[in-house]
Amino acid sequence: MVETDVVVVSLGSVRNTEWLTGSGLGSGPRGIACDAGCRAFDFRGIVTDDVFVAGDVARSPHALFGYQFLSLEHWGNAVAQAETAAHNMICRGADRRPHLWMPAFWSSMFGVNIKSVGVPPMGEELMITQGSLAERRFAGVYGYKGRIVAAVTFDNTRWLEFYQAQIERGAPFPVEFPTMDRRPENRQPVPAGFPDPSLPTHGPMVTLSGYSPADQQLVFHPARH
Ligand SMILES: Cc1cc2nc3c(=O)[nH]c(=O)nc-3n(C[C@H](O)[C@H](O)[C@H](O)COP(=O)(O)OP(=O)(O)OC[C@H]3O[C@@H](n4cnc5c(N)ncnc54)[C@H](O)[C@@H]3O)c2cc1C
Repeated sequence: MVETDVVVVSLGSVRNTEWLTGSGLGSGPRGIACDAGCRAFDFRGIVTDDVFVAGDVARSPHALFGYQFLSLEHWGNAVAQAETAAHNMICRGADRRPHLWMPAFWSSMFGVNIKSVGVPPMGEELMITQGSLAERRFAGVYGYKGRIVAAVTFDNTRWLEFYQAQIERGAPFPVEFPTMDRRPENRQPVPAGFPDPSLPTHGPMVTLSGYSPADQQLVFHPARH
């Protein structure tokens, strides 16, 4: 027996794509690649027109996040993506719509309300725009290639909608707008310090993959005829 004050359990998920082996689809340990309209890619990277994907198992390009193939592991995303997939199944061409869900997450830990929007692991740099880390009450904004791509709040929820609007309009980073409760020590961005996104990540919400042409994480199994 081990005596301890706190136990942190870190749970992940595994995509059950083994049954698709030999189907000819672009499936693998990271899920099934599809276009923004939820149409699955085959193993050659050519989009199918009659196989649709939604939920954790789907990886699709997101226009707001550099067209990276993202798996967004949230209940809300699974429901919204399934609705888009169903819509596109019964619509033709111009009536089809893309799935462009804004990743959002919340949790409450040790009495602290934590929320985020966007894709934090994509961030290269971080700016604390309100409050301070020391006080455990703050808003932080992540930047990637000169744009805001995510925001996180600790006990500062009411500002999150504002930051989401900044992400949606591709606002510049470092942050140019004035914010309430901005501290002098937080005028400059600091490195975000996330691991290389081309390597398998343990991030609990979002798997970044497929960005680099050299990132060949998928195992392709051509269909047998
Ligand atoms: C521990 C944990 C906590 C989480 N907490 C949150 C949270 O607080 N908020 C939030 O938004 N999200 C949370 N998530 C993520 C959320 O659960 C998922 O994003 C969501 O369930 C995805 O829905 P889905 O329908 O895509 O996949 P799933 O819910 O995984 O459903 C897939 C289903 O397919 C079945 N299946 C697999 N293979 C086959 C097969 N060959 N034939 C038939 N059926 C098959 C599986 O058994 C499963 O029932 C959590 C996930 C985990 C693991």
